[in-house]
Amino acid sequence: MKEFVPKRVFIEEGALQYTLAKELDNKFKNQGIPVEYIESHNRLNPKEEMSPTALFNWTKETLVVGVKKTLKFQSCHPSADYRVVTNTSCPAKCEYCYLAKNLGSASYLRIYVNIDEILEAVKKHIDKGEGKLVTFEASSSSDPLAVEHLTGNLQKMIEFFSKEEKGRLRVVTKFAFVDKLLDLDHNNHTKFRFSINSNYVIDSFEHLTANLKERITAANKIQQAGYPLGFIIAPLMIYEGWKDDYKKMLFNLSKTLKSPKDKNLSFELIMHRFTTKSKKLIESRFPNTKLTLDKEQYHHKGFGKYVYPPDEAEEMKIFMEDNIKELFPQAKIEYFT
Ligand code: SF4
Repeated sequence: MKEFVPKRVFIEEGALQYTLAKELDNKFKNQGIPVEYIESHNRLNPKEEMSPTALFNWTKETLVVGVKKTLKFQSCHPSADYRVVTNTSCPAKCEYCYLAKNLGSASYLRIYVNIDEILEAVKKHIDKGEGKLVTFEASSSSDPLAVEHLTGNLQKMIEFFSKEEKGRLRVVTKFAFVDKLLDLDHNNHTKFRFSINSNYVIDSFEHLTANLKERITAANKIQQAGYPLGFIIAPLMIYEGWKDDYKKMLFNLSKTLKSPKDKNLSFELIMHRFTTKSKKLIESRFPNTKLTLDKEQYHHKGFGKYVYPPDEAEEMKIFMEDNIKELFPQAKIEYFT
């Protein structure tokens, strides 16, 4: 797949103090992409009124180059101790994306140019651990691989963490742009998890992401480069033929992965879920969505949250865990939720 090219760019005036913002400014202008300068990246809207679908598409073509001001990190359980944010949102349009729901009309992409300050803040958070291992999730607000060609931020983070005895970085992605990361000295301190799913789920709901084959090829490269590797299968969906599809997907993965018996391999399993708010947003952005969002078919957990009924969830848990254990006997299943 091709690397993301924005249709329009906004640069925060304060960002222009940083070399990266100046370089990007020149790069986009040379490519003929319109660039405007703004005071703050926090509230950006198109000039004209738009339908929810058109507005969503507008945000996903819009890039803001900014400075990350909040350097006190939030916690990120169960994935890691803290979130480290070097960019926000991503160019893909996964219909179920919880991030797109949380960001609402601010789903436009933001990349932050003050990576050195972000890494200084990481160092302070590691020091707060007083000698315990401190983990950081790089994908809680974005897919960092999707914009790595513009920032190089992930490369800098991997190199930074390689030297941190007590710091570990975790990355999740649905993209495959890993080639520039393969020769880095990572010291096993960065773990990549590729988000994968059945071809039906990827083709129906994960627009503008890498396809399954590309993700598995990238995962293989990452594993061969010595990085710790895992897979997140999310959202797990029940639909006609789901068992056959997931079984086939896991079987193909076990045959394609060069080291399926790697003892560091892990799986995280997350079922499809939605909230009253996300249902409304998804249906307005994707009026023809094939996602099942019928509250009657789901179990209401309270606070407007809907999950599969307990018997279906249990059936899925047993099915996925049994198949993973059979095909990847050394792998750790970190959680099913
Ligand atoms: Fe959301 Fe991840 Fe899909 Fe991007 S790739 S739209 S962050 S689910």
